[in-house]
Amino acid sequence: MGTIAFIGAGPGAADLITVRGARLLATAEVVLADALTDPALRAWAPQARWIDVGKRGFGRATEQAVIHALLLHHAATGARVVRLKGGDPSVFGRLEEELAAVRAAGHDAVVVPGVTAALAAAADAQRPLTRRGHGRSVALATAMTREQDLHAGRHADTEVFYMAGKQLPGLARQLAAAGWPATTPVSVVSRAGWPDAIHSQHTLETLAQASVLHSGRPTVVWIGAGARGLTVPPATPNAQRLQAEAVKRAPA
Ligand code: SAH
Repeated sequence: MGTIAFIGAGPGAADLITVRGARLLATAEVVLADALTDPALRAWAPQARWIDVGKRGFGRATEQAVIHALLLHHAATGARVVRLKGGDPSVFGRLEEELAAVRAAGHDAVVVPGVTAALAAAADAQRPLTRRGHGRSVALATAMTREQDLHAGRHADTEVFYMAGKQLPGLARQLAAAGWPATTPVSVVSRAGWPDAIHSQHTLETLAQASVLHSGRPTVVWIGAGARGLTVPPATPNAQRLQAEAVKRAPA
């Protein structure tokens, strides 16, 4: 029976995969990769057969069943199979279902963590998710339920929302209904971890205005203590450009 490695690729840019992830990827014979993962990641495993299992074009249930079938098919051939997932496999990554399918077929699995989008976004915005004294808890939430309903609450000092980019006005309404005051700071980052990442800063009242800026890009939104600006502002207005340049300069 084979072993399947679930590897977190990080939020996109190929250099944000972990060293452990890259080393294991380099041994792969077959890679089943998500759509969001950077094509430059292929350089870590040029020998492997890369199969794009990005979620486009099929109905939801079929997609997941096809991924399971591909995982099991290739593992059964004895190939070293890597399932490469965006961000961290354990965060909104359907890992539970895929691990269950792999185990049920008698295969072993290893899981390698990755940089989840929330952490890459906090780095880009230079707004730490926890703050000494007043930001003691962070919740990672998906804004979308399985029924594709929008849902948002208030469970932690800092609440981070994935999968909310298309519905910022609705998210703002739900957050207000959950008891967040209108003046609470909200940060929005799209394409976190990429050289063209965009960070915009709002209050709950003005969050809806972020829609156009981040339209069509993977986006995380966070509200509360971790979205607050620091007491010391960036030295120059160029801070965001410098952050992007640092990302570009990092060796791939
Ligand atoms: N496992 C992934 C999340 C997959 S769910 C992780 O740990 O990051 C997909 C959602 O993740 C997107 O709708 C978006 O909200 C967020 N996301 C993924 N990549 C992102 C990026 N580079 N920048 C901002 N948000 C991102």
